Amino acid sequence: MKFARSLLLAGCCAFLLAGLAPLPLSAQAPASPSTPASTAAAPPANANTQQAYTLSPDKLAKAVALSRIRDILEIAGAIWGIVFLWILLATHAWSGIEAWAKRITARRWVQGVVFFFAFFLLTTLASLPFDWYGQHVSRGYGISVQGWGGWFGDQAKALGLTLVIGTLVLLLFNWIVRRWPRRYWFGVWIATLPILVLTLFVEPLLEPIFNKFEPLNQHYPQLVQELEQVVARTGTNIPPNRMYLMKASLKTNGLNAYVSGIGATKRIVVWDTTAGRIPDDEVLFVFGHESGHYVLHHIPKMLAGYAVALFFVYWGCAACASWLVRRFGARWHIEELSSRAGFVVLLFVISIAAFLLQPASNAFSRHFEHQADIYGQEAIHGIVPDPQKTAVAAFNHLGEAWLEDPRPNPFIEFWLYDHPSTQTRANFAAHYDPWANGGHGEFFAH
Ligand SMILES: [Zn+2]
Repeated sequence: MKFARSLLLAGCCAFLLAGLAPLPLSAQAPASPSTPASTAAAPPANANTQQAYTLSPDKLAKAVALSRIRDILEIAGAIWGIVFLWILLATHAWSGIEAWAKRITARRWVQGVVFFFAFFLLTTLASLPFDWYGQHVSRGYGISVQGWGGWFGDQAKALGLTLVIGTLVLLLFNWIVRRWPRRYWFGVWIATLPILVLTLFVEPLLEPIFNKFEPLNQHYPQLVQELEQVVARTGTNIPPNRMYLMKASLKTNGLNAYVSGIGATKRIVVWDTTAGRIPDDEVLFVFGHESGHYVLHHIPKMLAGYAVALFFVYWGCAACASWLVRRFGARWHIEELSSRAGFVVLLFVISIAAFLLQPASNAFSRHFEHQADIYGQEAIHGIVPDPQKTAVAAFNHLGEAWLEDPRPNPFIEFWLYDHPSTQTRANFAAHYDPWANGGHGEFFAH
């Protein structure tokens, strides 16, 4: 989903991604995760409580150090992205690029292509140091095993896709602004919704550009049979030929399994760092969690939530952008919002809104992730001997592989985590036993 993230991010719908990206992803979150209030059932994480997610002292030290770097990179990167747009506005660089595009060609749409190509190239270059440093640290801590050649290759591919698809999206949005200068935010809102759905649908078809996929059956026929048991219990319609093994081991030591796509592109993907490396029972739990997102309709619910939120966000951003152009237009050499450079003002405001609304979007996401955790544990009941133990073991494996901090800072959790923290999730799993005394779970009758 990294690609879809960069694509949409670049494509100005930054706000959406903050929460949308994590959803179709994994049972864990490589670079994130945790909630305070929303996951009520977990006991408080204080020193006196027995914690379900633990690391050896050396790994703990690494996890704490690495988490700090990740958090700083994420927050600093987001702020830098906003500041960068502003610097180029304040130095009227955007209006300069627009004038340059006009000198190159008289065709309006070609001017747009030139301008937005420049826009994506510059913003990508601006964020490259953060991405580079993130990869450098990830390699240092033994999570990433990808060489620099391959890494830069992936960045180039992602940029290529962004240039093509992102430019098309921004051309469309910019055209809407020009066509309906007063009510454009409503048109942009209408256009965003099918683009989101299309992104979810197309994403699995673009993934092979970055990673190799093979039929899971070919490598782990036994696991496929076990997964089919969970499929039968959950009533999801994912036949074995929609189960893939991703060759992640060429790039990372991290663990992951996820469901992606919608409709005809729906599939389950298990990384080859996961199948065979952790017990099958734990893969079943992760799969159960992912199935939960589908069975509980999290994707349509998330889309509906974003649709409602974006309606107000676009409306508010349109008002702010108009005010900025009135107030600073002369200084930034921008006459109107519908010009190319004027459109960047709108992108600038949207990226600020995306940053400020990240906690709200993450709270939304954490709620769904918690539900999926419950669902995952219930889905493997009767299939594995002890769902509680399996889930706790899986969280320990995931947390250790990604070096997740067992006691993250509560503010950081609130702001950045789109999944509850590994500790919160493991503690919940350790105590979740609805079958005790003949009861049953929330989502299954037995
Ligand atoms: Zn999930």
